[in-house]
Amino acid sequence: MKQVYFYDEGDGKNKKLLGGKGAGLCEMTKLKLPVPPGFTITTEVCRKYYENNKKLPKTLMVDVKKNIAKIEKRTGKKWNSKTNPLLVSVRSGAAISMPGMMDTILNLGLNDQTVLGLEEKSQNPRFAWDSYRRFIQLFGKVVFGVDDKKFDDVLNAAKKKQNVQVDSDLNEESLREVVEQYKQICDKHTGRKFPTDPTEQVELAIKAVFGSWMGERAIVYREKNNITKDIADGTAVNIVSMAFGNMGNDCATGVVFTRNPGDGSRQIYGEYLINAQGEDVVAGVRTGKQVNEMKKDLPESYKQLTKTCERLEKHYKEPQDIEFTIEQGKFYLLQTRNAKMNASGMIKTSVDMVKEKLIDKNRAITRLQAEQLEQLLHKRIDPKEIKNHTQLAKGIAASPGAASGIAVLDVKRATAMGENGAKVILIREETKPEDVPAFFESVGILTSRGGKTSHAAVVARGMGKPCIVGCSDLKIDLENKQCSVDGKVVREGEVITIDGSTGSVYIGDIPTIEPKVTSEFKQVLEWAQKAKKIGIRANADTPEGAKLAREFGGQGIGLCRTERMFNGSDRINLFVEMIMAENIEERNKILTKLGQLQKSDFIEILQAMEGYEVTIRLLDPPLHEFLPNPEELAEKIRKLELQNATEELNKAKTVLKRARELAEVNPMMGHRGVRVGITYPEIYEMQIRAVFEALVELTKKKVKAHPQIMIPQISSIAELNHIKKIYDSIKKEMETKHKMKLKINFGTMIEVVRAALTANELASTAEFFSFGTNDLTQGTFSFSREDVEGKFLPEYIEKEILERNPFQSIDVNGVGSLIKIGIAGGRGIRPNMEIGICGEHGGDPNSIKFCHGAGLSYVSASPHRIPIAIVAAAQAAI
Ligand code: PEP
Ligand code: MG
Repeated sequence: MKQVYFYDEGDGKNKKLLGGKGAGLCEMTKLKLPVPPGFTITTEVCRKYYENNKKLPKTLMVDVKKNIAKIEKRTGKKWNSKTNPLLVSVRSGAAISMPGMMDTILNLGLNDQTVLGLEEKSQNPRFAWDSYRRFIQLFGKVVFGVDDKKFDDVLNAAKKKQNVQVDSDLNEESLREVVEQYKQICDKHTGRKFPTDPTEQVELAIKAVFGSWMGERAIVYREKNNITKDIADGTAVNIVSMAFGNMGNDCATGVVFTRNPGDGSRQIYGEYLINAQGEDVVAGVRTGKQVNEMKKDLPESYKQLTKTCERLEKHYKEPQDIEFTIEQGKFYLLQTRNAKMNASGMIKTSVDMVKEKLIDKNRAITRLQAEQLEQLLHKRIDPKEIKNHTQLAKGIAASPGAASGIAVLDVKRATAMGENGAKVILIREETKPEDVPAFFESVGILTSRGGKTSHAAVVARGMGKPCIVGCSDLKIDLENKQCSVDGKVVREGEVITIDGSTGSVYIGDIPTIEPKVTSEFKQVLEWAQKAKKIGIRANADTPEGAKLAREFGGQGIGLCRTERMFNGSDRINLFVEMIMAENIEERNKILTKLGQLQKSDFIEILQAMEGYEVTIRLLDPPLHEFLPNPEELAEKIRKLELQNATEELNKAKTVLKRARELAEVNPMMGHRGVRVGITYPEIYEMQIRAVFEALVELTKKKVKAHPQIMIPQISSIAELNHIKKIYDSIKKEMETKHKMKLKINFGTMIEVVRAALTANELASTAEFFSFGTNDLTQGTFSFSREDVEGKFLPEYIEKEILERNPFQSIDVNGVGSLIKIGIAGGRGIRPNMEIGICGEHGGDPNSIKFCHGAGLSYVSASPHRIPIAIVAAAQAAI
């Protein structure tokens, strides 16, 4: 195993082995760019270090010494020399950049002898002693774990004594004293003399950098950014001869982006400092100057910088983020990496680089992170403002976007206040269909329970409203109209801000940035539409949702959840009355009214999606979900009893009785979907008739409507055939009545495990399938989709029992296998069968990749995720 690569030996593409920084330095060396000589110890050595109980491989230091000798040769400087000492930096560098998360040591190689050599060689004693004190400070902190404050106290005392304000005004004499005291601090901390042998220094530094891979900062960063072992496993260590930006006024150091990372515009963007070392820029000790000022400060170096930027972009075909140092007028590159940009920056640079012929359209699409595009589709919190506000709590990010509004804990109050024009954030433990009118009137929703597929999450996503669910630290106190987190109280009426993209809740009103769909974004979407192979449809149940989906490029509706359509304030009571009806005649009367309302909704939706298929799913949830919560109802009854309000009391008692009759211990696996359709056929009959009526009306108006009827929760062909008979008789009745042939495809959801396993049987009746992966995931894991995210799932992910949330990103091995069985079953009977997916996974880029590979006809996602789905589908196809 080769443990060490000198920069002219390493493969600049092999980031896994050499880390991003090491690979970049190898590549730049090959391009003959001015990189200071140095070498990389591989990530493999880091893994060995941990396997070996934190011991370096025996031969490593032999290799390190050999390579230091090589640096000596290239630079003419000498290791541990009293006249012309070689100093090095020791830096971390994993396969994925983790800025600031691991450790770095600069000016290594200094001791009481070599500092004199540096003094003589630079003819700048102040510089030499300043470098020495910086070295001891950084080494003491990183290697020995000395508290930085101890060093700061000494430095501040020295400034006071010399009567100066800033570090750079400290003279040589003061710095010599500081060095002495710094050494004492370290000696006291470790109980040993500060190491003077540069080789020992370097060995300790290598161990410390490896150690920082498992430091808390780095672990948390990897967790938060989903950097798993297959992406980056261990850090490399880079040992590079020092280039000094702090030797005088012909020296500088800086960090620049080759294009503006904020908006992607083509201009070098960044900061530099004259007479400073890199860490001063990063640590913000001094405020940097804008890079274009370098034109007059250091004109020659500026020219070299701009030329280098162009060269790097041409080579990497990607905007770069570079670090440079100018030592006595000589320009050095210390690092290059692909620039991290926000979504608008990425989109603009994609389009610009195609125009500049730097990349082709495919690359313009694949370089994007589909998920990141969400930034462009929703309001977001102004990042500049965030530091002025305290985070109250964190929940599950369920529907993206940011909103500020008045906290309201009661559905009726929220609805009333919203109707009066107030901006309201509805806060509930969880929500039910009867709460939906308040959703319409709120700018955001926050719940303390539930997961990404809970009622609140799904409804809010459909409406495009910011929503956080499962915010379990939030204690809701309805009686006192307030909620609290760890004693911090928010009273109803106070303003809070929620960020549905991150799950953060803040106290106060934080300014937000409006979304913008720029011409460049439209251009990228157009390219992606052409490149993708799989269809993109929307989960939408309102005409507005359908219109929005179409505007974003959705071609059809993959799931129209009809139960959502009963939530409107003009019909929710009618629906409740229907459930309460004492006999079939009474129920049918109400159903006729509901049928009229459904029909007109279907007409609007079908019209908005003219020319495309609209899959209408018949009623799914259990009936009791439409009745008030029994506990709340019992409370109401107690109050009514005190008031002697007989009529209202009797009514409430009847509702309570019915709610209790219908209540189930496990409603998600209970009397729902087709089971309701079979036991209350009049409901499905009404819905099927309403779809036919809508089609008739639109056909007469020559509108190209393509409704499809889909049955939920099917587990057997017998269930499907039972409903098919009802469908057939209504079709016949309608065709006779209207004297026209009516074509409405009849299909089923595959969301019950048994349905996937018997898909071949179902395909004899079903003309199409749609995978309901929310319920299918629930059934496959036996995880309750409503509860899991707020309970054990986070710990499962933390302990790596599960790699990711299976309700968010498809579980390829389990649920994915069922999907493949379902597809094979369906297409075995009907080779061209249209098969889609309409669970929340339809909008998740990783799941879309799977769907593309599995051969699905389309994915269906919330309207706001359609652009993301289009880009992800194109990426899967390229
Ligand atoms: C599903 O189960 O994946 C689905 C789309 O249906 P719902 O979320 O409405 O249960
Ligand atoms: Mg379902």
